Amino acid sequence: MSTTYDLIIVGAGPAGLAAGIYASRAKLRTLLLDPTGYGGRLTNLDPVEDFPGFSQGIPGIKLAEEMMLQALQNGAEFQMAPVAGVNLAGESKAVSTSQGNYEARSVILAAGCDLKTLGVPGEAKLSGRGVSHCAACDGPLFSGQAVAVVGGGDSALEEALYLTRFASRVTVIHRRDQLRACKHFQRQASSNAKIGFILNATVEEIEGDEQVAQLRVRSVQTGEPSTLQVAAVFVYVGLKPNTGYLVGELPTDDEGYIPTNERMETAIPGVLAAGDIRSKRLRQIVGATAEGASAAFWAADYINGRKR
Ligand code: NAP
Repeated sequence: MSTTYDLIIVGAGPAGLAAGIYASRAKLRTLLLDPTGYGGRLTNLDPVEDFPGFSQGIPGIKLAEEMMLQALQNGAEFQMAPVAGVNLAGESKAVSTSQGNYEARSVILAAGCDLKTLGVPGEAKLSGRGVSHCAACDGPLFSGQAVAVVGGGDSALEEALYLTRFASRVTVIHRRDQLRACKHFQRQASSNAKIGFILNATVEEIEGDEQVAQLRVRSVQTGEPSTLQVAAVFVYVGLKPNTGYLVGELPTDDEGYIPTNERMETAIPGVLAAGDIRSKRLRQIVGATAEGASAAFWAADYINGRKR
């Protein structure tokens, strides 16, 4: 037995929630599905400084709560469940989860991305024991201690800055001499007395018995090894799209992201994609919400048989 909706939105991060708000306001019977609750990676950010309308910044969890409330108030339904499989080809799209099976005329894929791991020895063993992907969750545990951040993008520097609230020292380890992060974060990080950089270096091993104790680092230029004693290492080395349940259903680009046109439509009629899961260059919260709104608009047209 399946429950039938007009629209199913897979993922309740900024893109999915914005789609939920717009779809429910368009009076589509809308179901939001997410395995971990609402907000996605947004809930780990504090503050969000660049979302328009909040000149003093806003905690990511608060922004997510407001978006969720807005979607529910307008009539969207929410189910916390991982998607086990989909069948998107026909007129009626089927989505199965551990909590039930659902069908809809249209589906918006907005499941975002997970953070990549380093894949070095010690990382899996010490995960949750000093190896972390979440500064907001685990940063306070390392108050007054030295920690490291691996990566050179916006996430690495934003989280390094956040960690200076707790840690005595934050060392950013990056594999090149140029950081990928935007100039705003670069300036803030380089002027923060608690933040230091080890550039042109990679982490080869994370060592510790019960907890992270030190990192084995190697210079990319000279090949020289060194160690860095830290109580924790926060890994921010990029994203991988959450598309495992879509294998064989939809074409993806080389990195697994979903190509769409400017209406957020994928190669399958009635199936749209929005937010970080989409094939694109710029991944920002404001962009994800705009894409979610756009996807809902065009999904409504598809469902209502309108052509523009
Ligand atoms: P990213 O931009 O892909 O950066 C990943 C970083 O990790 C790069 O510096 C990369 O080095 C490095 N890296 C990749 N694989 C590595 C490995 N195996 N070992 C060591 N280093 C490795 O990822 P991100 O920082 O998570 O950002 C993802 C997207 O979200 C971006 O579009 C970003 O702009 C956006 N974002 C925006 C904000 C904001 O504006 N508030 C905050 C966070 C993220 P290379 O530079 O050498 O490739």
